[in-house]
Amino acid sequence: MRRRTFLAHSAAALGGSALIGTVGTTSATATTQAGGGARTTETLLAGTEYASEVVTIDAPNDGPTAVVVGGMHGDEPSGYRAASDVASWEFDAGELVILPKANRPAIERGTRHNDNGDLNRKFPTGREAETKLARAIWQLVEQADPDVVLDLHSSQGVYRTHESSVGQAVFPTVVDPAPAYAQTAIDTANDTVVPWYMPYHRYERGNSLDGSSPLLGHKVAGDLDLPGYIVESTRFILDPSTAAQWTSLIAETLLARHGIPRRDGRVETTGGDKNR
Ligand SMILES: [Zn+2]
Repeated sequence: MRRRTFLAHSAAALGGSALIGTVGTTSATATTQAGGGARTTETLLAGTEYASEVVTIDAPNDGPTAVVVGGMHGDEPSGYRAASDVASWEFDAGELVILPKANRPAIERGTRHNDNGDLNRKFPTGREAETKLARAIWQLVEQADPDVVLDLHSSQGVYRTHESSVGQAVFPTVVDPAPAYAQTAIDTANDTVVPWYMPYHRYERGNSLDGSSPLLGHKVAGDLDLPGYIVESTRFILDPSTAAQWTSLIAETLLARHGIPRRDGRVETTGGDKNR
């Protein structure tokens, strides 16, 4: 199917210098999931300091394709933990291409930046991404030919509470249905996991992503005209594992709304009976 042709294309398109290397020696690992579907693990920029695992999940039923990115900033554990959660799930339909730890050098150091600065400022709309790693990530996105892109982050503070902080907010692209689905995910999180006694931690809608800034989420809107989201949970009076769980729930909700429901997930799917 589409993913398999993508694997063949990726090496050819690059004139022999493979963007996607393989884990192990000769081939990507593929395992069958319970109930069908396949999980494949590859390596982005294999053999470099940026080498990072890409997990592809091909669910049993046809559906849209999502790209899920975490760990663009190395000091945002809830983002890359949540993306790793998504990579461990099973899905009933659709395809996912998941890069849980996009910025391995920064994650290993626990810093926002790698040696080339802020990775999530290297994605200008209308121009090539600005670093080797950013170009590889963007190529991964383009080759996945997604219907939706999620970028999972965390923030020191809280949106509209702490100056220039973005925590506890979901930022949709301007492309429908992203703004409405963002609100659904926000409501789901606020109704189900954010405790009543933590009013500052209720999620809000962030500003819309439109290609006006050099962030991955903006480029998804500006260059691909796709629905996409930046999800930001805070580190302010919130432990990383809880923040990761909340981020995961938002990701699960967004994916389900886009027709990529998690198997036995917590989120009600359209027309489904998982109302709990
Ligand atoms: Zn971030």
